[in-house]
Amino acid sequence: MENVIIIGGGPAGLAAAIYNARANLKPLVIAGSPPGGQLTLTTEVENYPGFESILGPELILKMRKHAEKFGVRFFDQNVVKVDFSKKPFEVFLPDSSSTTKSVIIATGAKALWLNLPSEQRLRGKGVSACATCDGFFFKEKTVAVIGGGDTAMEEALTLTKFAKKVYIVHRRDSFRASKIMQDRVLNNKRIEVILNSQVEEVLGELKVEGIRITGRELQVDGVFIAIGHKPDTDVFKGKIELDKKGYIVVKDYMTTVPGVFAAGDCVDHKYRQAATAVGMGVAAALEVERYLEG
Ligand SMILES: Cc1cc2nc3c(=O)[nH]c(=O)nc-3n(C[C@H](O)[C@H](O)[C@H](O)COP(=O)(O)OP(=O)(O)OC[C@H]3O[C@@H](n4cnc5c(N)ncnc54)[C@H](O)[C@@H]3O)c2cc1C
Repeated sequence: MENVIIIGGGPAGLAAAIYNARANLKPLVIAGSPPGGQLTLTTEVENYPGFESILGPELILKMRKHAEKFGVRFFDQNVVKVDFSKKPFEVFLPDSSSTTKSVIIATGAKALWLNLPSEQRLRGKGVSACATCDGFFFKEKTVAVIGGGDTAMEEALTLTKFAKKVYIVHRRDSFRASKIMQDRVLNNKRIEVILNSQVEEVLGELKVEGIRITGRELQVDGVFIAIGHKPDTDVFKGKIELDKKGYIVVKDYMTTVPGVFAAGDCVDHKYRQAATAVGMGVAAALEVERYLEG
């Protein structure tokens, strides 16, 4: 039986693994397939302390090597089922299962995309899903934010700190966002709202040069897709409490099942950063140590 199984091989899971390994708990990480999480999808990361600039895939590889150095074992497979109804808990992979005294869930989230071929081709070349991460690269440029909820308003406001002009393009005739966020957007002189317009194509060969929306073309240097995120928590439905968007509900990193903890973007719909995911992973690992001592 394992002391702790960590589900997820992104920053939260790997940070937890390093701490639990150094506390001699010999953690097993089920890192998912493909492993590595969201940082594998990005290019330059410039806001992770200690690294002025590093490629996302390189940063996550360094974290994994760091964990391996302390003896962490990895299965690069997906968990397909869990049984948290009895102790020890049981975690199922496609062809096997393991029992464990405790679990840390760090399965992250996925940004939702428009799924246009041109958008996918230009991801990291002007197409982004994170203004906090990438806004800095668009100083004095023109960008478009796609979406109509609070996230889109927040992304647009964040981008006004860098870009000289920010369009918000929304397919409906009104925003879903809260009144207060809409007011902030409408009062910001750098933002121009374009309603009733769907993105048909992201334009540009090697980098974003514009977008084609219903009936016209807009020249922009960057496109921020802000149509939501989906936490990767389907496998835990009915086993622990999730909120209405599927994020895991925790108190001090413990889920509604004692002994099952959660950290990172599968819990956090607010900050969604590698450094915050790492911090939450560390906190969850320390809670596991306390729980097992108890
Ligand atoms: C394009 C892009 C650019 C970004 N740029 C930055 C940046 O510049 N700076 C920054 O700080 N943050 C950035 N982020 C955000 C950052 O990547 C995330 O906040 C961070 O990766 C969250 O870490 P996590 O460990 O919680 O989840 P994730 O990184 O999402 O990792 C989740 C892990 O769980 C695994 N998993 C999922 N389901 C299962 C399952 N059923 N069984 C087993 N494993 C499973 C996955 O395979 C993965 O290994 C960016 C995100 C994106 C998408």
